[in-house]
Amino acid sequence: MKIALIGVGNAGGKIGDELFRYQLESGRDLCRAVIAVNTAGTDLAKLETIPDSDRLLLGQTNGQVKGHGVGADPDLGATVIEEDLHELERALSEVPIYDVDAFLVVAGLGGGTGSGGAPVIAENLNETYEEPVYGLGVLPSNEEGGRPSYNAARSFPSFVQATENLIVFDNDAWRGNADSIGGGYDRTNREMAKRIETLLTAGNVGEEVSENAMDASDVRRTLATGGISSIAYAETGIDRSTFESRSFLNRFRTNGAREDSDKAKKISGLVRQAVQSRLTLPVNVESAERSLIVIAGPPEEFSRKGLESARRWVEEQTNSMEVLAGDAPMPSADTVSAVVILSNVTDVQRVDELQSTALDAQDNISKQKSDRDAEIEELITDDNDEISPV
Ligand code: GDP
Repeated sequence: MKIALIGVGNAGGKIGDELFRYQLESGRDLCRAVIAVNTAGTDLAKLETIPDSDRLLLGQTNGQVKGHGVGADPDLGATVIEEDLHELERALSEVPIYDVDAFLVVAGLGGGTGSGGAPVIAENLNETYEEPVYGLGVLPSNEEGGRPSYNAARSFPSFVQATENLIVFDNDAWRGNADSIGGGYDRTNREMAKRIETLLTAGNVGEEVSENAMDASDVRRTLATGGISSIAYAETGIDRSTFESRSFLNRFRTNGAREDSDKAKKISGLVRQAVQSRLTLPVNVESAERSLIVIAGPPEEFSRKGLESARRWVEEQTNSMEVLAGDAPMPSADTVSAVVILSNVTDVQRVDELQSTALDAQDNISKQKSDRDAEIEELITDDNDEISPV
């Protein structure tokens, strides 16, 4: 699949930047365009791989913003992005959309620009283009406090509504024990990039063909559910020396059956490991409607038997007959990786938690506001209201 990526806000821009870097390093061919959209010029200036010409500073003429951001206010974020959508439209008119299979709108949902702006952009893309619009939304960590959870809980339903599928990444689940808030972002952005690139590039026609090669339409079908998704991932290194001597042995057909069964075990084991490891969003796997398994790596490592047994295992875990599986050949890779997308999950404790934190925050915010209003009123008027203001 080829995509046009739009990173909205600080997190959206940084994750887009990392995906673009990963693409350049891995030689994969996913993004036809990566555009960073922000209301804060300083955030755009920090990006490293997205070219200057693809960084859009919106809201420069808005009196409240003037290029300095929206101060974590999603309502202002939404307004400003809406006002300046024509600038994004102009940037997209330079992109060869005929060569793009989907849009991916990326944002952290705890702030203002991404939280308010990403659903507006996704909605606009939906109205303008026929290609599906996917989202990648990052939930804030609990440690960030109530306001980010409140912003995220408000953005979440709008972003889900505006996209064909919202892939969710939970900062809370990915925070390392020793991480300060924001301390592990480079690491987590890299992890996100790996998963998204491996999943969405599956099915891109390369020179290598494989018996069970994934088809891009399978990826599209799995994501065409509405709702939200979580991604599972595991990888294992390849020892190139045994790899080459094994190919040599295989040529003489010695130990062939044993080799096949080892490979099959390795592939099915890797898929189990992926699903049992930390998901981008912790979910009850059983609640997935559709799933897709991608095995990416050198074709010599692929195993039809292994893939089939992994597929059956995921069917059992998800209680669903809609599990697709395929290989994504990458001849020069030095790892084999398994990506599983669990699409349209409905049992997600983390979202319930987020909403309950958001409700508390909403109560606090309105209580603080009314207390403050009362205090100001008391301060600026005399005790018995005897002085009449001019
Ligand atoms: P915005 O620019 O107003 O959209 O706000 P930010 O993107 O700065 O922050 C929104 C949320 O994104 C924060 O509450 C964090 O949870 C998250 N966040 C910010 N930067 C990163 C990042 O680099 N990686 C990840 N995973 N999350 C981030």
